[in-house]
Amino acid sequence: MHARTVVTHSPEETMALGAQLAQELKPPVLVLLLGDLGAGKTTLTKGIVAGLGAAAEEEVTSPTFTMIHEYGTARDNAARVYHVDLYRVETARELETLGLEDLIAERSVVIVEWGERLGPALRPSGPGGVVEIHLEAAGEDERRIEVRVLGVGC
Ligand code: ADP
Ligand code: MG
Repeated sequence: MHARTVVTHSPEETMALGAQLAQELKPPVLVLLLGDLGAGKTTLTKGIVAGLGAAAEEEVTSPTFTMIHEYGTARDNAARVYHVDLYRVETARELETLGLEDLIAERSVVIVEWGERLGPALRPSGPGGVVEIHLEAAGEDERRIEVRVLGVGC
């Protein structure tokens, strides 16, 4: 495992970090975003998705109600990206119906907000790597972002 921590000072900086991380991701990979409301999970996702060439930043919105957004299908050669939000998932049964295993099996990038709800036992197992990103507000516009690569995802 290796880890690194970055402090960003604006949403734009967080998106730029996401775009930079995108260059290191090797699908299939599960990217778990952990941190409170407003920590910057959706903002970072915008950067990752744009960096992967799957959609523009402004097309990326929080899938709070639909639970899963899919990007990259309308573009040639773009990585398939699934953006999942577990905020409203309450039971293991609901988690199962999301079919995260199947998404990973497509050799895609699966980004999960509220990744803490996927304890180790509930994480899809398979060939892909896992990247855990912990986000924390360190001031009004400062966000401390720690990237931990577990396995072979980067
Ligand atoms: P989450 O998905 O974790 O709930 P969002 O990305 O939706 O968080 O919201 C983060 C909020 O914090 C946005 O309103 C954004 O403008 C603001 N913000 C301020 N500074 C930063 C920063 N450095 N990085 C990311 N977001 C920031
Ligand atoms: Mg969000």
